Amino acid sequence: SDEKAAALSTTPSDSPTIFDKIISKEIPSNIVYEDEKALAFRDISPQAPTHIIIIPKVKDGLTRLSNAEERHVEILGHLLYIAKLVAKQESLDNGFRIVINDGPLGCQSVYHLHVHLLGGRQMNWPPG
Ligand code: ADP
Repeated sequence: SDEKAAALSTTPSDSPTIFDKIISKEIPSNIVYEDEKALAFRDISPQAPTHIIIIPKVKDGLTRLSNAEERHVEILGHLLYIAKLVAKQESLDNGFRIVINDGPLGCQSVYHLHVHLLGGRQMNWPPG
């Protein structure tokens, strides 16, 4: 897939990503939730009727889940709680899927930790 190709051609690093430009509103996005610590916006290449990306506004070294440190515990919990709030806001009352891709094998292509919220269709298991 295109996602897989992008993930395999991306070198994991702590460099700024496109998500910094979304946070600064330098590039437009369809924001569905925002608070002082986090931002949620619609994925530009949706893989389900609802596909939302939830990110910390300050990356603080959190490029990927495998780089998480004790100091990130609060924001990690916050992102999951926002996923629940946004799922409710999107009326995903019969369930949804949360995904965090990590690294090349996990198909991560943007190195700013993010939670995918997917819903609006039956999900399959195992994921690809
Ligand atoms: P993958 O590309 O394999 O899904 P990630 O887990 O790193 O890997 O997800 C990055 C996500 O960010 C992708 O779903 C992609 O469609 C999305 N994305 C990239 N650029 C933008 C953008 N400008 N606006 C909204 N979503 C974006």
